[in-house]
Amino acid sequence: KGRNTFQIYNATIRENTEMQLTLENDLRRAISLGELTLHYQPKLHALSNEVIGLEALVRWKHPSLGMVPPGKFISIAEETGLIVALERWVMKEVCRQIIRFEQEGVVPPRIAFNLSTRHICQEDIVLFIQELLEQTWVNPNLLEIEITESLFMENTNQAIEKLQVLKDMGIRISMDDFGTGFSSLSYLKSLPLNCMKIDQSFVRDVTSDENSKAIVAMIISMANLLQFDVVAEGVETQEQLECLINLQCHQVQGYYFSKPLPIDEIQLFLQKAS
Ligand code: C2E
Ligand code: MG
Ligand code: MG
Ligand code: MG
Repeated sequence: KGRNTFQIYNATIRENTEMQLTLENDLRRAISLGELTLHYQPKLHALSNEVIGLEALVRWKHPSLGMVPPGKFISIAEETGLIVALERWVMKEVCRQIIRFEQEGVVPPRIAFNLSTRHICQEDIVLFIQELLEQTWVNPNLLEIEITESLFMENTNQAIEKLQVLKDMGIRISMDDFGTGFSSLSYLKSLPLNCMKIDQSFVRDVTSDENSKAIVAMIISMANLLQFDVVAEGVETQEQLECLINLQCHQVQGYYFSKPLPIDEIQLFLQKAS
């Protein structure tokens, strides 16, 4: 469209790249400087409101940019490989939190954390988790790993083997954002999974769009047949909740119940819930 448009486009690209480089350099330091923190979001039983676990979601307290959401830096961390150090910090912090719960005389809830495909493909991931559990004495039943479908695009057999070992250790395995990747139905039957999380994009439209509702219903019945638990992510309204209950989905997570919160606020939430 001529010069002007080109310049604007160019400036945007440059700005993004610079931002990207700044974030990459800062992120390298952030992990060692203790700028990362975890927020926790509860997963609940839809009928009893009982808390069935928490999900740990990483946040970055950037010294000048403020609180940076994971959407801004997880992909950079994945591209640069920093994700491995980042998620190892997350896993250690989750175990430390479980120990703090125990020290405070609180029955620790199960805590889920997200593991990127790149990290699970690391040769020593299973060993790292085994050693972490040996060092901290954390009960593996209190841990849950959330993976995504991209893990099964390549490396499928190796990934399945690793997940099987982790599951045999007593760690729960959940498939996050289910329905957004390219799941092949043939591998689903052989996956060592405990749970599928219905992606929030389907939950968002479950009351307004018949196709979304059909997809949600299909995921629920498939999970039932494969004997996986099923959690609906991103529940924001009473109407969505009622619709999910009617579809026989009884485990839920979303702003309707609680946003991800810092640990002291989540502890208040847990006290009120019990
Ligand atoms: P996710 O694992 O699917 O987590 C759910 C995201 O949806 C969270 O965003 C959560 O705050 C948001 N959410 C929860 N309930 C609702 C709701 O009712 N409505 C809406 N609109 N959103 C809701 P968050 O914390 O920004 O995290 C985004 C993504 O970043 C996560 O998606 C996860 O994929 C990734 N992430 C966070 N921590 C880690 C990590 O340690 N490792 C990796 N690989 N990814 C992480
Ligand atoms: Mg998740
Ligand atoms: Mg998700
Ligand atoms: Mg997600």
